[in-house]
Amino acid sequence: MEPWRPSPRNPMHRIDPKTFHFQFPNLRYASGRRLCYLCFQVERDYFYYNDSDWGVFRNKVHPRARCHAEQSFLFWFRDQYPCRDEYYNVTWFLSWSPCPTCAEEVVEFLEEYRNLTLSIFTSRLYYFWHPNYQQGLRKLWDAGVQLDIMSCDEFEYCWDNFVYHKRKRFQRWNLLKDYDFLAAELQEILR
Ligand SMILES: [Zn+2]
Repeated sequence: MEPWRPSPRNPMHRIDPKTFHFQFPNLRYASGRRLCYLCFQVERDYFYYNDSDWGVFRNKVHPRARCHAEQSFLFWFRDQYPCRDEYYNVTWFLSWSPCPTCAEEVVEFLEEYRNLTLSIFTSRLYYFWHPNYQQGLRKLWDAGVQLDIMSCDEFEYCWDNFVYHKRKRFQRWNLLKDYDFLAAELQEILR
């Protein structure tokens, strides 16, 4: 496991391959996985060249300092990119989809940053059967967030960019186990 990062202001650069293969598979139920990982990419259009920022956040599970990975990102982003008028293209790759509280906070965040587009690829749907969680996803969708289940392309992209792969080639192994179920479920929720 990678070292504990006490401050939400500091994303990790990458995660190790074991963590990736344990935390990221498309599974219908994955109750042993209490952590949520958020790999992100920020692209900006600024005077004809593109600059981008990358990193990984993880939720904090300490009972006195709970902070979801999404909240860490929002906190970090506001600090890092104070300019609200610039164009930003943000992509998240999440191991679990956002909870209703985080969904709410993302919607507020998008109201602050009018020129920001957010795409979320999630590996699994957190409490997909629960109406409040479904509602949270619909709120994100209605606010213009692009939502999708992580497929082979996204896994490979994450492997290349967010994993200490040491030049090992990407292997899909069990990553796509319940992809079809989750993709259909998400479609149903957003319908
Ligand atoms: Zn949350």
